Amino acid sequence: MQSRRDFLQKLTGSVIALQISPAIIAASCSNATSHYDGPVLRVAIMGLGSYGTRVAEAMKDCKKAKLVGVISGTPSKIKDWQAKYNIPEKNCYNYETFDQVKNNPDIDAVYVITPNALHHDQVIRVAKAGKHVICEKPMSINAKDGQEMVDACKKANVKLLVGYRMHFEPKTLEIIRMRKAGELGKVLFFQGLCGFTIGDPKQWRLNKQLAGGGAMMDIGIYAINGARYMVGEEPIWVTAQETKTNPEKFKEGVDETIQFQFGFPGGAVASCLSTYSMNNLDRFFLDAEKGYAELYPSTGYGPIQGRTSKGELTQPHVTHQTVQMDEMAGIILEGKQPPVPVDGEEGVKDLKIIDAIFFAAKTGQKVDIKL
Ligand code: NAD
Repeated sequence: MQSRRDFLQKLTGSVIALQISPAIIAASCSNATSHYDGPVLRVAIMGLGSYGTRVAEAMKDCKKAKLVGVISGTPSKIKDWQAKYNIPEKNCYNYETFDQVKNNPDIDAVYVITPNALHHDQVIRVAKAGKHVICEKPMSINAKDGQEMVDACKKANVKLLVGYRMHFEPKTLEIIRMRKAGELGKVLFFQGLCGFTIGDPKQWRLNKQLAGGGAMMDIGIYAINGARYMVGEEPIWVTAQETKTNPEKFKEGVDETIQFQFGFPGGAVASCLSTYSMNNLDRFFLDAEKGYAELYPSTGYGPIQGRTSKGELTQPHVTHQTVQMDEMAGIILEGKQPPVPVDGEEGVKDLKIIDAIFFAAKTGQKVDIKL
């Protein structure tokens, strides 16, 4: 199966996957196995790009979530998606008209899958239209904007979830289960290596206005988020060092490579790397008093592979986005509690940490983090 990095690298020239819960397995194999009579989350996707397309394809196998609408600035894409996913005209919007989703009783939620810097305004507009929102990572481009999104969704009494697909991934969840059960002992160290070599210099991911940064917003966030769910604590300080080998491609405010280090209240430390200039970097390593856990690859589309000091992890591969959408439907419609949070507050925590990393890299200071 193709990894996210392989996919992005191929695209960049032009446009550029606790012990697994039985509920999660059933949801992921839904169509193939059981009949489902429960509530279904009717979703409109905003932003019909490469990841939006991947989510739409994965949703074909969902039992609790269904793609029913689209929001796009490109009429030809809307036509294509209508034909492909059987979407009625009345569920199609563009970026000017999507506030009218307010009057559409057939759409429950909008999944925002557009460039990072657009998430803030788009999520707030969806919230004002009274619909639940799922927003891709990074939730926005700084913690202040992220908090405004959380506040707007609270005010509108709608749920805000962030597309943290790894929070439902079986091998990841097994390591979290082992750590929580004390099977690894006291956690001492985490290493998160996240990166790939990015292609086309003209893509929005390398445009500060649309991306809000560079590798950190896109891929470094996996190491940040991973450090938090693997260690099971929130970092209390960060130090960071930035290096740039190609200032022409990675302009001011667009980070190429940042190394960063966290300290945790229990005494554990973390060492992470975020880069747009190196391949083969998709590895999490957790060291603890009674053993270790490794995921490599750790955050690609899968199959995720891993081992612990007790042996290979054998949980089945699932299509991340299928499980994510079924589980998110359960959260929104039935108030289910995910093993690792995926709400707006979780998104804001990562953004606070990104703000602190950027400040630490710029000033050379050790920066305190209060989440
Ligand atoms: P993409 O470029 O393939 O698609 C972006 C879409 O947004 C396009 O359809 C584009 O037309 C549309 N768009 C609307 N307004 C735009 C504007 N002003 N400028 C540029 N495009 C505009 O990007 P993508 O890879 O689909 O990424 C979209 C979002 O999804 C990002 O926030 C990214 O971080 C996130 N993402 C998440 C994952 C994951 O595994 N969770 C993977 C890839 C991307």
